[in-house]
Amino acid sequence: MTEKQEIAMGKESDPQIMAFFGSYEDPDLQKFINEKGQAMVKISHRSDIAYEFKIVDSPVVNAFATPGGYVYFTRGILASFNNEAEFAGVLGHEIGHITARHSVIQQRNSMLGQLGLIAGIILVPELSDFVDPLSAGMQLAMMSFGREDERQSDKLGVEYSTRIGYDASEMAEFFKTLERQNKSSGGEKVPEFLSTHPSPEKRTITVAKLAEEWKTKMKLTNPVVNGDPYLRRIDGLIVGEDPKQGFIENNTFYHPVMKFQFTIPRGWKLQNTPQQVQLAPENGEALMMLTLAGKGTLEASANQLLEQYKLTLVESKKETIHGLNALLLLADQKQEEGTIRVLSALIQYEGMIYSFMGISERSKFPNYQSTFLSTVHNFQELTAVR
Ligand SMILES: [Zn+2]
Repeated sequence: MTEKQEIAMGKESDPQIMAFFGSYEDPDLQKFINEKGQAMVKISHRSDIAYEFKIVDSPVVNAFATPGGYVYFTRGILASFNNEAEFAGVLGHEIGHITARHSVIQQRNSMLGQLGLIAGIILVPELSDFVDPLSAGMQLAMMSFGREDERQSDKLGVEYSTRIGYDASEMAEFFKTLERQNKSSGGEKVPEFLSTHPSPEKRTITVAKLAEEWKTKMKLTNPVVNGDPYLRRIDGLIVGEDPKQGFIENNTFYHPVMKFQFTIPRGWKLQNTPQQVQLAPENGEALMMLTLAGKGTLEASANQLLEQYKLTLVESKKETIHGLNALLLLADQKQEEGTIRVLSALIQYEGMIYSFMGISERSKFPNYQSTFLSTVHNFQELTAVR
C-alpha cells in the first residue's frame, strides 16, 4: 500500500467510524489528547503525515488506530486510566501502529464481542439484507494486527511515552488493571491490544522491563505520572451506558431524549446505536429494527420503505397505537431462495415517523408474528423514567 492509499483509507473510514459511535463532546479532554498526540507524533518515527486524535462516544474500553494517522479513544477507556502516564502509554502504542505502518490481518478483534453487534448473531443470511452492513470503516476498526506487530507497538508505546516525559511503567500497570477487570467480567471484554497477545502476563513484564531501560536511556529521573491532574480532567466523564441515548430497565427500552419506550421481547438482545435500535432472539431467526423514517405522511413513508427493501405489499391497515397514528404493513421480499416476510409499523410521533419492523423467513413468520405485533403495539410515549 502506498502512503497515499494508506491516508485515503483512514480518511474514508473516519466519518463512518464517527457515525457509528458518535463523537464524545468534551472540548477540554479533546484538546488534551490532541496536544499529547501531536507532541508524541513530533518525536515519533513518522511525523511527516497529519494525525487526528478523537474521542468516540462508547462505554466499551478500547483504543484503536486506522492507517494514515487516525487514533481513537473510547470514553470508556479514558474513564479507565488512573493517570496521564497510562494514557500516554496506550497513545504511544496506537501511534506505533501507524508509524510502523502495520497492516491489519483478516481476523476480527474483540470489538465485535464488546459491542455485542446484532450483525454477529443474525444466523439467517437472508435477513442480513435488512441489517445495516457494518461500514467498511467499522470493519477496518474491527480488524486485528498480528502478534509481532502488537509487540512492536508496545515497544514504541514505551519509547514514545518516555520521550515526552512520562513514566512508561504505568502502561504495564494499566495492562494489569485490564487483566483484573477482564477476569471479573468473565473474559468477554478484552480490548484489542490485550486480546491478540498470546500471554498478557508476559507482555506486562516485558513492558515494565522496557520502561526501566528507556528511563535510564533518557536519563529520566523524575518521570511524569500525573494521577490527580488526570482524574480531575476526567471528572464528569460519563461512565457506562449514557442513559440519554436510551437505556433498558425491567425489560423495557426507554429513550428519554426522543421520549419513547417499548417492551423488549423476553430473551431478545438489543443493540442501540445512534442510527437505530435492533433486536434479535438468541437463535438469530428473526430481527426487529426501529429507525426514524423522517417526516411527511405515513403513506409516503410506506412507499419509500417498500421501495427501499424491494417489498411487495400483502396488506396494510391504519391503526392507533397508544393514541398515535400508525400504518401497519405486511409485505414480502422475494429472494433467490425463499421469501422474507416483514411486518412494519410506521408510527407518527412528535412530527416524525418511526419505522418499527419485524423480519423473518416467511415459513417461520407465524412463530414470530405475535411477538412482532405486541412489540410494535407497545411503542408509546415515554411515561416513566426513574
Ligand atoms: Zn495494538
